[in-house]
Amino acid sequence: MRPVCLITGASAGIGAACAVLAANRGYDLALTYNSDPKGAEDIADQARAAGAKVLVLQLDVADPDAIDAMYRAVDDHFGRLDALINNAGIVAPAERLTGMDHARLRQIFDVNVIGAMLVAKGAVARMEPAGSGVIVNISSAAARLGSANQYLDYAASKGAIDTFTKGLSDEVAPSGIRVMAVAPGLIETDIHMKGGQPDRAERLGCGTPLGRAGSAEEVANAVIWLLGDEASYVTGSVLDVTGGR
Ligand code: NAP
Repeated sequence: MRPVCLITGASAGIGAACAVLAANRGYDLALTYNSDPKGAEDIADQARAAGAKVLVLQLDVADPDAIDAMYRAVDDHFGRLDALINNAGIVAPAERLTGMDHARLRQIFDVNVIGAMLVAKGAVARMEPAGSGVIVNISSAAARLGSANQYLDYAASKGAIDTFTKGLSDEVAPSGIRVMAVAPGLIETDIHMKGGQPDRAERLGCGTPLGRAGSAEEVANAVIWLLGDEASYVTGSVLDVTGGR
């Protein structure tokens, strides 16, 4: 039987690349999108062409009731959950701290931290009775770099994800569940356009030790490796995919 993997934010970028690779590696998929159903359906079609059964669901991870409803739909459709790629995330336009208001901070933390924690909570509730499961949280190198003058809020939210990853991995290891994070660096996706700097990855990527930005597929390779048995003795780790940055 094909294992079932839930991927949040699978309509674009890193989540979409993870979905296509996971389908090719034998997973059935529950894919969520927030505002782009067409993006999600395009990715679902690619995954189905690779042989996966795919359920596509709308989900705003900032809405706890919507997370519960999403899990009910996954339960009804698949009746099991083997893996979670906890990927949905946002950035706001570059600002210094003095330009960030409460609403902005609330939104970043509701999506990137509380949403991710509640999605992980739902996964653990399904994995613990089965005695196995794998969770990969998508962090960011920003957690380590701090993102001064641009995205302190985003960087702090990803720092929380790294800490959450370590704590949750310790908490659920006795239940047979592994929990890791992948911390991408400058990756070519639309998140930079949404943050008001469409050329950011290309512009800054040449300053990395490898001299270029990364692709969503290069991040997906790391994520899918962590999901599999080849990473069976890995838990609690944050894996940088940053070109050395
Ligand atoms: P992206 O291309 O902008 O895709 C973001 C995905 O998250 C989309 O599928 C989007 O759905 C979904 N999403 C946005 N807000 C959501 C919400 N409130 N609830 C549920 N889903 C929501 O971004 P990406 O670059 O692939 O980023 C994916 C993850 O990687 C994020 O956690 C990000 O912080 C992290 N990351 C990215 C980079 C980078 O350079 N790209 C670097 C480090 C870390 P819709 O499109 O349907 O609205």
